[in-house]
Amino acid sequence: MIPYGRQSIDEQDVAAVTAVLKSDFLTQGPQVPKFEKAVADYVGAAHGIAVNSATSALHIACMALGLGAGDRLWTVPITFVASSNVGLYCGASVDFVDIDAQTLTMCPKALEAKLSAAASSGSLPKVLVPVHLTGRSCDMIRISALAREYGVHIIEDASHAIGATYDGSPVGDCRYSDITVFSFHPVKIITTAEGGLATTQDAALASAMELARSHGVTRDPALMTGPSEGGWYYQQVAMGYNYRMTDLQAALGVAQMERLDALVARRRDLAQWYHTALANLPLTLPTFESDATSAWHLYVVGLNDPSQRRNKADLFDRLRARGIGVNLHYIPVHLQPYYRTLGFNPGDFPISEAYYEAALTLPLHPGLSQDDLNTVVRVLSEELAD
Ligand SMILES: *Cc1c(COP(=O)(O)O)cnc(C)c1O
Repeated sequence: MIPYGRQSIDEQDVAAVTAVLKSDFLTQGPQVPKFEKAVADYVGAAHGIAVNSATSALHIACMALGLGAGDRLWTVPITFVASSNVGLYCGASVDFVDIDAQTLTMCPKALEAKLSAAASSGSLPKVLVPVHLTGRSCDMIRISALAREYGVHIIEDASHAIGATYDGSPVGDCRYSDITVFSFHPVKIITTAEGGLATTQDAALASAMELARSHGVTRDPALMTGPSEGGWYYQQVAMGYNYRMTDLQAALGVAQMERLDALVARRRDLAQWYHTALANLPLTLPTFESDATSAWHLYVVGLNDPSQRRNKADLFDRLRARGIGVNLHYIPVHLQPYYRTLGFNPGDFPISEAYYEAALTLPLHPGLSQDDLNTVVRVLSEELAD
């Protein structure tokens, strides 16, 4: 099976992890701050807080922004469930803004209408989580202008988008947000096996996230309520979790960061190749934007033919049976049974639901060979012609 995504591990990565295994610290050593600095410097953020997953990063970001009971978090239906679950972790309620049919990300018009209605009924969200689906930034200029107008915080879910740029600067510099979150799961752009990281320009948010990732405990006298009682002393000054990244993971991350630009360039080349090779099939293909450079985490095509959309499950099975590891990103979150129990229904977010009917993710990762690519296109052409 040609998988839709796969990690790229070289000898330098293996050596970096092995070196940590033979060192004094497997966790809470020097590699985590080194990785945090590598990512923060790359994206141009003052602070980077590494954790054990992007889900944890989203959670501590919500905590740092003070999201709690009685508050609201809004995200989009076309995302992984983690983007909205973190609102529920905090005791907040969750709602969604529909996507734009072209960009597949949060629709600024839908956001404007929903914010305006929420302002009238006194139900504005505290936190907005736009998702840079497939690695391409949302329209952050318009989204952040609206968020500022209505006093809403923004956490960018850039799980797909490390190495992407927007408006001439790296995704993650938080020019249009409070906090940006990255994922390092093996299918993403770079990996630490499991792992995530939050960037911010705000020292207070960084400090709050550092506390939240490690039990709310500090050894920093400046954060304590009173004088130290001795060399052993620490204080728990907030609620927190054990969301720490290990040094093994961080060392892998440091090594992977050195190849980030090359990995993204390779993904872009593959996407460009698909763009030409698939041009004559009955598919809607992703576009290449001039104002933003995608990290090309996913290559999502849309089925143009209504009967092929209706029979997508069958097409999916036939492609899988022939070794093409197609996938689907994502099932609209509001249609998940758990979210249905919270009151969401089919029809609530029609653009997202139409996207779900048409979308198909093709294999895209740096290890794809020319043979793999040819096979994907040949088999897809044959199955679409049936
Ligand atoms: C992968 C992903 C997450 C969760 O990342 P983990 O590191 O697996 O916790 C959250 N949001 C989106 C959009 C993702 O793709």
